[in-house]
Amino acid sequence: MTLHAHWGHASLLRALARARSEDSLPAALLIHGMKGVGKQHLALWLAKLLLCEAPTEAGPCDECHSCHLAGKLEHPDLHWYFPLSRPKKANTPEKLAVALEEARGEALAELRAKPLQVTFDNEPRSLYLAAARSLRKKAQRRPSMGPCQVFIIAEAESLAPQESSSEAANALLKLLEEPPAGTTLILTSAEPGRLLPTIRSRTTKLHVPPLTVAEVTEFLASHTGLGDDEASRVGRLSKGAIGRALGFLREGEEPGPLEEIRAHALRLLSAALAKEPEDAIQASMTFKPVGARGLGDLFNFLEEGLADLARTASGLPPEAGPMDEERFFEEVVQRWGIQPAWVPSAMRKVDEARALAAGNVNPQLLIFGLLHDLRKELANRDLSNREGT
Ligand SMILES: [Zn+2]
Repeated sequence: MTLHAHWGHASLLRALARARSEDSLPAALLIHGMKGVGKQHLALWLAKLLLCEAPTEAGPCDECHSCHLAGKLEHPDLHWYFPLSRPKKANTPEKLAVALEEARGEALAELRAKPLQVTFDNEPRSLYLAAARSLRKKAQRRPSMGPCQVFIIAEAESLAPQESSSEAANALLKLLEEPPAGTTLILTSAEPGRLLPTIRSRTTKLHVPPLTVAEVTEFLASHTGLGDDEASRVGRLSKGAIGRALGFLREGEEPGPLEEIRAHALRLLSAALAKEPEDAIQASMTFKPVGARGLGDLFNFLEEGLADLARTASGLPPEAGPMDEERFFEEVVQRWGIQPAWVPSAMRKVDEARALAAGNVNPQLLIFGLLHDLRKELANRDLSNREGT
């Protein structure tokens, strides 16, 4: 099975193909844009273009041996690194390096088998120093097949928040400073602000914009066999990112993984804004006491929920929810007399919680504190003002 052709972003692809034909593509690129928008997919397309034996003005030829191998993720000069969860029983650096390469191989095999599968879970994943070292070693070698090697370093910001992070980032930095001739490095990141400034300054930035809802809906209808109604519902939830849309696809009778996290975020918001403050305690107790780093998607959906709250408070409908959500937002706005101007400070509380989660604090305490803060910002404002005076 091969990866599907890159969907959308036609003018961006044309510009890249033109730069390739003029030999003016930079040796180090940073592809950024919202999560799930297709950054890694675009990086793979670009890698295929660079390795193609007969590239055209429109992109890779899709017919040569190189294109064929790259499409199957089997090209020996295409190296794709992405964050992985920490392998178990790898207690020496050597064992860790071997275990990471194995895990990367398994993840690639899985992708080959199911190219549309997206994993969303609470597992913390990182790019490890061992991976950065292995990457650097490979970059020093000569290409196996073609004239060049391409390295994709996905979610490059995940080099940052871990122990020995500076070492991993520095290993990468050395490579960016002096990329071996014929080597192209493509970093992708949804949060480029979290990259080291020195990494940002050594890469040429390329922004991938969201697709239109219509483009995502069309993709879903043609690639996943969804009916029209479901395709347009998921299309609306996608915010223009195919990767995000795939997370909303039902798995048999089960809701998609993102659907579940989104519902969870709404339940938390509802607990924070409930009549009784005890609901927030109960909601935070449902969290395990470890694994705060895996809460990123939950925080994102909490922010989206707050944005919908602000829309409702301004008299606008929520962005992409079913009818009962609209009623939920109306009800809490009415209950607490929520003003749109209160929402930004609530958003900042989510941001603070996200920063704490990166430091791996206890999720129960973190969520409890966050719900308490949200209640204070949005529900108990009069009370908190009185307390403040
Ligand atoms: Zn080709």
